[in-house]
Amino acid sequence: MTSTLKITNPFDGSALAEVVTDDLNSVAAKAARARASQPAWAAVPVAERRACIERFRLSVAAELEALAMTLTQEVGKPLAQSRNELNGFLARIDFFLENVASSTAAETVFTDASMTERIEHDPLGVVANISAWNYPYFVGGNVFVPALLTGNAVLYKPSEFATLSGQHIDRLLHAAGIPSDVFILVLGAGDVGAALLAQDVDGVFFTGSVATGQKIAAAMGARFVRLQLELGGKDPTYVADDADPKIAAESLADGAMYNTGQSCCSVERIYVHEQIHDAFVEHFLKTVASFKVGDPMVEGTYIGPITRAPQLAVLEAQVSDAVDKGAQLRAGGKRIERAGSWFEPTVFTHVDHTMALMNDESFGPIIGIQKVSGDDEALALMNDTRYGLTAGMFTKSEERAAKLLSLVHAGSVYWNCCDRVSPRLPWSGHGESGVGVTLSTYGIQAFTRPRAWHLRRP
Ligand code: NAD
Repeated sequence: MTSTLKITNPFDGSALAEVVTDDLNSVAAKAARARASQPAWAAVPVAERRACIERFRLSVAAELEALAMTLTQEVGKPLAQSRNELNGFLARIDFFLENVASSTAAETVFTDASMTERIEHDPLGVVANISAWNYPYFVGGNVFVPALLTGNAVLYKPSEFATLSGQHIDRLLHAAGIPSDVFILVLGAGDVGAALLAQDVDGVFFTGSVATGQKIAAAMGARFVRLQLELGGKDPTYVADDADPKIAAESLADGAMYNTGQSCCSVERIYVHEQIHDAFVEHFLKTVASFKVGDPMVEGTYIGPITRAPQLAVLEAQVSDAVDKGAQLRAGGKRIERAGSWFEPTVFTHVDHTMALMNDESFGPIIGIQKVSGDDEALALMNDTRYGLTAGMFTKSEERAAKLLSLVHAGSVYWNCCDRVSPRLPWSGHGESGVGVTLSTYGIQAFTRPRAWHLRRP
C-alpha cells in the first residue's frame, strides 16, 4: 500500500512537503517498464544518449541556485556547500560525457590471417540505484549518469531525506529527453528500497551505511547480479613532524567539519607527531572556533544542522564514552538546544583506540586527535580499523608520504590534502567501506559487461 512521506527541514523541524511513496506493486510495475524499455535505449547511438545528458547538464546549470536551495532546505547543508556540490556534479557530468565513448569503444585485441578477437561493452540492463542523502547529486549521479550513458535503464531511489532533490533530477532528466520508462524515480524509505531489490534487476548500486549494505548483500547474495556497495568510513590522517602545523590544522579542520562532518570521506581520526602536536591542536581549535554555526540558508554559515535526528544520540554516546575513558574535551561536546537537530563542533585530544570515537563512524562535527611517536605508530593506528575509504598524510617529503600511504588499507590516499574526490580517479573502499568502483573510466565500465568475440574467418 502506498503511504505518504513527510519531508521536514532539519534546520527547524518545519514541514516542507508530503509526497506519495511507492509500494511493492508500484515498484514491480516500474521495474517491468524499465525492463521493457531498456533494449530500445541500448540501441540508441551513444552520441544521442550523450546529447540528452548534455541537455540535462545545461538545465542543472541554469537552475543551480534553486536546486541548491532545495538541497539546503531538505538536508540542512549550508547553501555555499550545496552550490559546491552542484558545481562538482557538473564537473562529474563533463567527465562522463568526455569519456563514455572511449571507455566503452569496441576494441580488437588480436587479429591474424584466420582469427580476430574483439571486446565489446554491453550495458548491464536494468540498474537499481539506491542512494544516500548526504550528497544526493554526487552519489546518485555517480550511478545514473554513466548508467544511462552506457545504455542501461535506471530505477533511482533517492534517500527519503533527499526526496525533493530526487524529484528535481527526475524532472530535469525527462525534460532533457531521457525516456520516462528509462529513468524511473522510486520514492520511499528502506522498505521501498527492499522492494526494489526483489525485482528483476541486473545491477544494484548502493551508497549508504554499512548496516544497510550488509542487508543488501544478504538479500542479493544468491542472485548473482552486479553489486556495488559504497559504505562508511573512519578516515585517518597523519600529520608528520616536518609538516606545517597551521596549514595542516586548517585543512584538516575543514576536512573534519565540512558538510557538518556528514561526508563518507570526512576526516574522522587525526594522528599528530608528538613534536608538533601542541602547535597543531592550537591552530586546529582556532580554526574550529572560527566556523560559523547557524541557519544554512544564510551566507557565511559553515556548520548546519545534523540531517538525521537519531545521529545526535550516536554523537552523545561517543562523547560520553571518550570522556569516561580519559579523553580531554577541548571544544563543544553537546547538543545545541534549539529547534531542529544540532551538535556543537567537538574536538577531543588524548584519545586512544579503546574509544568508540576512534573506531566507529561518527558522521558529525566531532573529531579525535591522537599524539603519536612517528610514522610506524601512525601507520599501525591508521590500519587499525574495519573501514578503508580514504587516508592521508601531511609531510614535506613526497617520498616519506609515498612509503606510508602505499601501505595504508584505503581506496584513496591523500598527500597534503583530504576530503577530496576527483571524477578522474576511481572511488572505492577496502573492508567495510564497500565493494566496487565509481568514477574514473572504471566507474563507466562498471555499468557494462564485456562481450568477448572470437571470430574465425570461413
Ligand atoms: P542508509 O543506509 O540509512 O540509507 C541509504 C539508502 O538505503 C536510503 O535510500 C535508504 O532508504 C535505503 N535503505 C535503507 N534500508 C534499506 C534496505 N533494507 N534495503 C534497501 N534499501 C534500504 O544511509 P544514509 O544515512 O542515507 O547515508 C549515510 C551513510 O552513507 C554513511 O555511513 C556514509 O559514510 C555513507 N556514504 C558513503 C559514501 C561512499 O562513497 N562510500 C558516500 C556517501 C555516503
